[in-house]
Amino acid sequence: MTINFRAEVDKRKDEFMTDLFDLLRINSERDDSQADAQHPFGPGPVRALDKFLEIAERDGYPTKNVDNYAGHFEFGEGDEVLGIFGHLDVVPAGSGWNTDPYDPQIIDGKLFARGSSDDKGPTMACYYGLKIIKELGLPISKKVRFIVGTDEESGWADMDYYFANVGLPLPDFGFSPDAEFPIINGEKGNITAYLHFAGENSGAAQLHSFTGGLRENMVPESATAVISGQLDSLEDKLAAFSAEYGVSASADNLSDGRVQVTVIGKSAHGAHPENGVNGATYLAKFLNQFAFEGAAKAYLELAGETLFEDHDAKKLGVAIYDQQMGALSMNAGVFKFDAGAADNTIALNFRYPKNTSPEVIKAGLEKFEVESVSLSAHGHTPHYCPIDDPMVAILLSVYEKHTGLKGHEQVIGGGTFGRLLERGVAYGAMFPGYTDTMHQANEFADIEDLYRAAAIYAEAIYELIK
Ligand code: ZN
Ligand code: ZN
Repeated sequence: MTINFRAEVDKRKDEFMTDLFDLLRINSERDDSQADAQHPFGPGPVRALDKFLEIAERDGYPTKNVDNYAGHFEFGEGDEVLGIFGHLDVVPAGSGWNTDPYDPQIIDGKLFARGSSDDKGPTMACYYGLKIIKELGLPISKKVRFIVGTDEESGWADMDYYFANVGLPLPDFGFSPDAEFPIINGEKGNITAYLHFAGENSGAAQLHSFTGGLRENMVPESATAVISGQLDSLEDKLAAFSAEYGVSASADNLSDGRVQVTVIGKSAHGAHPENGVNGATYLAKFLNQFAFEGAAKAYLELAGETLFEDHDAKKLGVAIYDQQMGALSMNAGVFKFDAGAADNTIALNFRYPKNTSPEVIKAGLEKFEVESVSLSAHGHTPHYCPIDDPMVAILLSVYEKHTGLKGHEQVIGGGTFGRLLERGVAYGAMFPGYTDTMHQANEFADIEDLYRAAAIYAEAIYELIK
């Protein structure tokens, strides 16, 4: 039986966009300030989950919402279960958008909205792939469980809860449409280390506060410090710094002789710190010209010298390379300093290959002038699904058929739900050569790419469950 999956996608374009727009209009950022027992990550993620399950129910699937942490719908019957894992939460919109991040707009074939490429767009492309199989009534021999999480971007507490409470065994094999084609069959380990500093401050220049970064897995777009004391030629030095490094910077006089200095760089995904300009490390580098002392000095020196452009952690002394999995990367993601506070921190997010460990990284960081180093409670160990797994072979062959390009294995630093299963990978939805705007301002997905991806998902899912 030959089916033209692309033609089937084309018949459903309008419906696909309508459903996707409905999801994109929901601001599903995690909001702990509004979280409660019914809304574990705040109301936005729950609204997105409800909408997705409503769409699935409309289309005739049995659905299950596991206490607003995550949910699934099922299709077909069989002893083996294919798991598909998407996520409906998004990272904060941040600033710098040309459109409203929650009012999706198609401009020149690009769909602009937070979540368009990470991960509502790919999740719905995959959803429509499966919908085609269902509506064509194709013969299948396995069950599909399509699972959507609502806390992928922060700590995966959605999936911890889901698997503990759903009352079903793990799917036998599966993929997550949350990265790129041809395939991601390996993912680096992921751990955040927190550098702790005291808050005392005894120099001729005083650091009252230093803040930057929204999430550990995002490059801080901007950072702000409030300073006072001996700040000779601050305005001139700031203009010179701004010109030398190509970042925008400003200084505003507050009351009591305090000055607020802000540096704006460029955000990027924390797994690719080299694609961003870390506003916080640049601000610290600028401030290092003044006579800070004590913990403030230690904080600014580490932030502005050691962490400055240290994407592979060479200056930190924990760089490492692995033949199969590539190099370790480091994103200095969240900065919090308040003079007088007992605990001030810098959060460093590491993506590491399989020949190092969080303990080795921690020991390396303890060599610096910090009070202490702690590690995040949740991390991920490196994950690798062999290229000769039959599922991987099917996914690559469908990709090759649709694109005419050669498939090959890939290891990334970003963690996806693909790693939840031993036989798990990430598959799409971005194509080679795409512009990666995930976690950035003006995030977009190319509409034509979403349709191409939907056709690939349809055929790949069918090949896996027929
Ligand atoms: Zn994602
Ligand atoms: Zn993401």
